[in-house]
Amino acid sequence: MSFHSLGLSAELLRAIADQHYKHPTPIQQQAVPVILDGKDVLAGAQTGTGKTAGFALPLLQLLSKRPRTKGKTSVRALILTPTRELAAQVEESVASYGKYLPLKAAVVHGGVNINPQIAKLRRGIDILVATPGRLLDHVQQRTLDLCAVEILVLDEADRMLDMGFIRDIRKILALLPVRRQNLLFFATFSDEIKTLAEDLLRSPVLIET
Ligand code: AMP
Repeated sequence: MSFHSLGLSAELLRAIADQHYKHPTPIQQQAVPVILDGKDVLAGAQTGTGKTAGFALPLLQLLSKRPRTKGKTSVRALILTPTRELAAQVEESVASYGKYLPLKAAVVHGGVNINPQIAKLRRGIDILVATPGRLLDHVQQRTLDLCAVEILVLDEADRMLDMGFIRDIRKILALLPVRRQNLLFFATFSDEIKTLAEDLLRSPVLIET
């Protein structure tokens, strides 16, 4: 199995070659075609399996093939992560996979001054990686427009629930357009994940690795 056969565009294949990835990992083989097809996904995947590229590559491709429908400052894809470290890491991956595409990514997380984040959001962002608390700070300050989100990713959703983010997540979900694609990644399944998945996902494809 090659990255080419997953249906990824030339710009993404070039970025993958720059990373020296030879073959897609099992989670990438399963997730990429399904996400490209516009389906919701419920995926069990541990860290280190290549799950970030599993959602980031098709997400980048989908956005790059569709025209922007709303104003230039609205976010088109939102990726929520439990921790600052993971948020920074995911944004770095998105930026490197998307380096040959005209899409802008940014990260917002707590523990740092909010003002540079506000300035960056004002300039226009396609893909935002965020921790839930700081995302809601931006919403409260009206520095962020979530009305055009086409794709939502909950990365390490089980950890977000363990850390008590469920209320924040539900507040964020209420701000998003109803029509969107949802991708839920978890490491360990639980009743809480099941409930969230039932509320969030529409006819999801289940992926287990
Ligand atoms: P993740 O599970 O997303 O945290 O990725 C774990 C590590 O695997 C990261 O350092 C990636 O750069 C790397 N990686 C992702 N996909 C591939 C691949 N297809 N081949 C080799 N390494 C990969």
